[in-house]
Amino acid sequence: MTTIGVLSLQGDFVEHQAVLRRLSADVRQVRTPDGLRDLDGLIMPGGESTTLCRLIQDFNLYDPLRAVIKSGLPVWGTCAGLIILAQRAIDLDFPTLGALDITVRRNAYGRQVDSFETNLSIPAIADGSSRPFHSVFIRAPVIEEVGAGVEVLAHLPADAGPAATSTVALRQGPFIATTFHPELADDDRFHRYFLDIVRQQGRGYTPK
Ligand code: GLN
Repeated sequence: MTTIGVLSLQGDFVEHQAVLRRLSADVRQVRTPDGLRDLDGLIMPGGESTTLCRLIQDFNLYDPLRAVIKSGLPVWGTCAGLIILAQRAIDLDFPTLGALDITVRRNAYGRQVDSFETNLSIPAIADGSSRPFHSVFIRAPVIEEVGAGVEVLAHLPADAGPAATSTVALRQGPFIATTFHPELADDDRFHRYFLDIVRQQGRGYTPK
């Protein structure tokens, strides 16, 4: 059985859990360093990155999460989760976990387009069909720089306004990240893609 941890301090962890359960994964809500034991993968959900960082600090999870990342466990960050995984987060007064070689700006779409939905082409998650992925953005960050070792999985279309063509989904080794919320789409292809990475990696993580 594949055990996926979902960081469950704040934000939409229940929605991730529901999709994973539909896909027959064993899901564990993670709130303590002990909860990181024997995982095959970890999801850092969306929410509010400052609140999440404060809770990560209060629950003594910074060092254990860094150890998880260092071990190469597959980790997926959505929205606020992506911000916390970035090496550089503008306007965030907390340290990040530094897994992804990206620079990210919080709440960068501005008030007028606070939240929006769009259809994206994401070849990596294709299931043989060219069906686009309906993507929900909620006070999303904008990725301003992407390092050389980062594989871009999706970007906004060219007519998408100020952040047109910016990267919205990416992979760097065992880590993936999306600025939108696949857990809110009625489409489990992104979760399947993550579970495939987890199964390829094929091992549990146990902290020392
Ligand atoms: N705006 C939030 C932040 O900066 C992220 C929003 C989300 O996760 N949906 O943390």
